Amino acid sequence: MSAKRILIVEDEKPIRDMIAFGLRRAGFDVDEAEDCFSARASIADHMPDLLLVDWMLPDMSGLELTRSLKRDDNTREVPVIMLTARADENDKVSGLESGADDYVTKPFSPRELLARIHAVLRRVSPTGDDEVVSAEELRLDSASHRVTAGNENIALGPTEFRLLSFFMTHPERVYSRGQLLDRVWGGNVYVEERTVDVHIRRLRKALEPHAYDRFIQTVRGAGYRFSTRTG
Ligand code: CA
Repeated sequence: MSAKRILIVEDEKPIRDMIAFGLRRAGFDVDEAEDCFSARASIADHMPDLLLVDWMLPDMSGLELTRSLKRDDNTREVPVIMLTARADENDKVSGLESGADDYVTKPFSPRELLARIHAVLRRVSPTGDDEVVSAEELRLDSASHRVTAGNENIALGPTEFRLLSFFMTHPERVYSRGQLLDRVWGGNVYVEERTVDVHIRRLRKALEPHAYDRFIQTVRGAGYRFSTRTG
């Protein structure tokens, strides 16, 4: 398999150089752009497998660039990780709503960035043997249909299992009750939205003895999110 290509869109050269260095060392092919205009030229030249997009860019915001890429059939499927100096929750939410697949807040370590890149790439092109997802010590194995925390089994009902499986393969994104019904319940019109809350409650209860209920986060007025971070 050939190396994955990553396009870095970042106007601050020292940061761009630092990221490019780390990615090349990790075996990625790297393209660099200092603004949205050159990012588009680079994409036309070589379609990347993933984009790292800085929030603040000179010609257009990274947010707008991400939105426009996600509207375009040619680039819709290419995952985007936003680089942001903003720690505000609203900005994170609007970043993810723009279609970004994840975000990394500056300053970040090269190791953290690589972990996020690998996680996003795994998510968009899962390989057949990648049936185990984990977050800290929480592991979900879809082949054996088992959930464990360390060495301990966690018993889940079928709906809670599907819900957790969906969350763990789509972390750091907020899903409304309606979206969860579509994705986890398969859009069954006879299921009411508050059913989601019931199953969320059961799932949290099952995870609570291991303190992993904190991963299932309520986002006020928006829905639910799976995240290993607090807040
Ligand atoms: Ca910038």
